[in-house]
Amino acid sequence: MRFTGTEPLKTPDIRQPESRYTYTCGHCNTKVSGIVVSVYETPLGTVKWVLCTDCGYGSVLNDGSLYPSMLFGPIIEGLPQEVKEAYQEARNCMSVRAYTACELLCRKILMHVSVEKGAKEKETFASYLTFLSEQGYITPPMTKWVSLIREHGGKATHLIEKPEKKRAESTLMFTAELLRLIYEMEHMASQYIAKTQPEKET
Ligand SMILES: [Zn+2]
Repeated sequence: MRFTGTEPLKTPDIRQPESRYTYTCGHCNTKVSGIVVSVYETPLGTVKWVLCTDCGYGSVLNDGSLYPSMLFGPIIEGLPQEVKEAYQEARNCMSVRAYTACELLCRKILMHVSVEKGAKEKETFASYLTFLSEQGYITPPMTKWVSLIREHGGKATHLIEKPEKKRAESTLMFTAELLRLIYEMEHMASQYIAKTQPEKET
């Protein structure tokens, strides 16, 4: 049955429990008791439009399945703005099954990180990796999996073969791990290093 505009969309009474829905918001990753803005009954199931009480963005529940769903990949703290935006976008891609776009962004993150660490822009991706290795950000045991970020991104760009979900998930996880090692650990440590008074050596 298609929606013709004549079927009533119900708005739950804000004082009633059905006006709230508990879910993890796909926009801000927070578990909230969201506000059910509208409900529509179809023969296929119930459609609910919900509003996150934390970030204010809306999501839709089609017969119990939430869109956008929770983002894939961990939250990484302490990222510079451009890197942060690109990483967030890559995570967003996974939640809408845009695997090619995710892998392209992960490869692009290698560029953002390298440039942020002092590499010249408009170089090749291979040279960005060399730069990060020379600067000590990529250690020999990391080389294999960091190279995969570049290789998968390259395949996503140049080959007709589509990346499947599992490969894109791995590419994103490699990227997350790289960002964790380069930025998040330093960010976490800085909170302690700044506060700690130099101790007397005993
Ligand atoms: Zn939210």
